[in-house]
Amino acid sequence: MKNEMKLQFSALSQNESFARVTVASFIAQLDPTMDELTEIKTVVSEAVTNSIIHGYDNDPEGIVFINVTIENGLIEMSIKDIGHGIADVEEARQPLFTTKPDLERSGMGFTIMENFMDEVEIHSQPGKGTEVRLRKHLSSSKMLCN
Ligand code: ATP
Ligand code: MG
Repeated sequence: MKNEMKLQFSALSQNESFARVTVASFIAQLDPTMDELTEIKTVVSEAVTNSIIHGYDNDPEGIVFINVTIENGLIEMSIKDIGHGIADVEEARQPLFTTKPDLERSGMGFTIMENFMDEVEIHSQPGKGTEVRLRKHLSSSKMLCN
């Protein structure tokens, strides 16, 4: 059985933990390991932070959209903004690449997402926004088929 949730919220840094905790509690029904839950929370945090600080430059008028579906132990997440977008996605994916070195950014967000997820797709257009699609199979999902 497929199960889906959607969330949208203002681009405010205090909503990062809201998003992380909300997605984690939705995922909890799949009975993930502690490591898997930590990984999911970390990637949600990284992607949401990117939308807030890079996509919207911390403009609280911006809205971050999250969509999560779970089915038979497969988690699919989309984290999207209608912000500035990314000019060169391949460059942005490189470890240590950041356009905001002044703000304590290390350029590791996308690298962390790739390490923790099975698949990472980045769709972005300058001036239109960015959508990050993330997929992960849980190691031993106990979700009942009903
Ligand atoms: P860190 O995540 O380590 O704090 P970072 O955010 O700069 O640093 P990444 O998350 O890997 O590093 O992102 C790399 C670069 O891709 C960013 O510096 C930014 O230029 C661009 N980027 C990422 N997400 C977005 C987004 N949602 N909108 C616009 N640009 C983005
Ligand atoms: Mg980042």
